[in-house]
Amino acid sequence: MNPNALCFGSDYPATGLPCRVEVISIGIAVRFEDRSTDAQDDADTVPFDRLSLSAGGLNHDQLIIRYGSEADARVLYLNDPAVIHALRAAAPTAVTENLEATATAVRRKRHRRRISWFAASVLAVSLGTAVWFGSDLAVNLAVARIPVEWEQKLGEAAYQDFLGRQTVVKEGPAVDAVREMTRRLTDQISDDPYRFEVTVVRSDVVNAFALPGGYVVVFTGLLQKAESGEEVAGVLSHEFNHVLQRHGLERVVKQIGLTAVLSILLGDQQGLIGLTRQISGELLTLKFGRAQETEADVTGLRLLRKAKIDSNGLVRFFERMAEQQGDPIEMLSTHPMSAARVERLKAEMATLPKQTVEPFTFDWKQVQGSLSVSR
Ligand SMILES: [Zn+2]
Repeated sequence: MNPNALCFGSDYPATGLPCRVEVISIGIAVRFEDRSTDAQDDADTVPFDRLSLSAGGLNHDQLIIRYGSEADARVLYLNDPAVIHALRAAAPTAVTENLEATATAVRRKRHRRRISWFAASVLAVSLGTAVWFGSDLAVNLAVARIPVEWEQKLGEAAYQDFLGRQTVVKEGPAVDAVREMTRRLTDQISDDPYRFEVTVVRSDVVNAFALPGGYVVVFTGLLQKAESGEEVAGVLSHEFNHVLQRHGLERVVKQIGLTAVLSILLGDQQGLIGLTRQISGELLTLKFGRAQETEADVTGLRLLRKAKIDSNGLVRFFERMAEQQGDPIEMLSTHPMSAARVERLKAEMATLPKQTVEPFTFDWKQVQGSLSVSR
């Protein structure tokens, strides 16, 4: 059986149960991979008139199917385009009407109601179950189903909390330069569901980090240490790709559990702030795994090339950081640096054709000079 959906229900695991949804003449048939965990003996057959459909997921390309009684509700997250198409074609208008309306509403606004509805059903499931993830796959499946809006809410709360305790550089050549780099890079991200926001924070720490949802912080220590704008843009491209691959969210869910993430997102504003404080330490010192670093390095390299920014900058900066490991100053501590990573990047670059480069409009020495003057 090839699962094409994830099913949530009170007697299913918090991370959902993989299942296969098929469209039949009277409705849908739902089959589960592991029948021992399913209360039904064969397939759940649900007639069209008992289904409630809505759109959801990253890029809103998933179909959310809801059925069952209030006490025993089932929620399916389906992302098989062929089956979604078949269902939309076969179901009576009364059923799909709701879907079209939801899809429009989703596109139009931040749709709080859908969020709280989704949240309530998933939370109810999660709370009833101990949330200990057995595998990365379960985490990834769960993460893939968290809407971008939630991810932004979580990231933004931690971001604002962090910035509130820092000296933010609000204007000047450094901010303008970072803005130019950001625009050059984000212009090249196709189907970008995020609105990247980069803030320059005054600190000697040589680092930059990205929070879930597209909130990025660059410390002036990194700007001072970088020998060109291309080096900084290289780090930003790496950070943006952590966000695009949802690495932060994966780590958070792994560390504090899906239930905790959901309760943070569901809490009232006060609760959200309180809980965010508790985990913002985790968010800010989140160490990415080796596979995630490699992924962000390689996709970061590709994004730089698309943006016509000299990708040698990224390699040079990482090379210097790798050499200086063990120094008392904190060097990109949230992104463990190694000589092997640099070698991997160099090997990747060697396979790519010669790059077309467009220089930045700013003078890097001037940008750095402005940072020491305004101190
Ligand atoms: Zn990283």
